[in-house]
Amino acid sequence: MQFQVSNQAKLPTPFGDFCLQSFKEQQGALELDHLVVFTKELGESPLVRVHSECLTGDVFSSQKCDCGGELQMALERIGKEGGMLIYLRQEGRGIGLFNKINAYALQDQGYDTIEANEAIGFKDDERDYTIVKHIFTHYGIRKIRLLTNNPKKIEALKAFVEIKRCSILVPSNCHNHAYLQTKKLKMGHLL
Ligand SMILES: [Zn+2]
Repeated sequence: MQFQVSNQAKLPTPFGDFCLQSFKEQQGALELDHLVVFTKELGESPLVRVHSECLTGDVFSSQKCDCGGELQMALERIGKEGGMLIYLRQEGRGIGLFNKINAYALQDQGYDTIEANEAIGFKDDERDYTIVKHIFTHYGIRKIRLLTNNPKKIEALKAFVEIKRCSILVPSNCHNHAYLQTKKLKMGHLL
């Protein structure tokens, strides 16, 4: 895999003062600008969140999913305890924004999140975590406390580092209840 690393910059936030660095991944003709947000001190076993971009949840506070709440909760904890948030630009579990909106339109007709992805020709999860390996290597990280409920993510990342899981639980609401149930029952999430 080919990638470039940007210079390091500062990011002051309500959750604390972070450092920023971008990793640009080259996937054939496609370029993905990932973002790494981290505290100055990482410690021996930093708290890490690997968050995949969800524009509707992260920016527009969509209540259809739990992404926005998870992002905020992760930044709060990382700001307090020290660690790193890796923001991967793989929108819609890797299918892209345009396709995600088409999948949402099917969900409005009663499909669940997995059925909708399959109906438009994708797997329920198209994400690839290879770049995360290079990010861990870049910062010399060998051991992490991973904020996740997703056993597939743990499986993918434990090839790169030693992992202790920390759960991240965002309260459900009337809009995302069915989505969270699908995650739990059909995708094995530890909710
Ligand atoms: Zn989301």
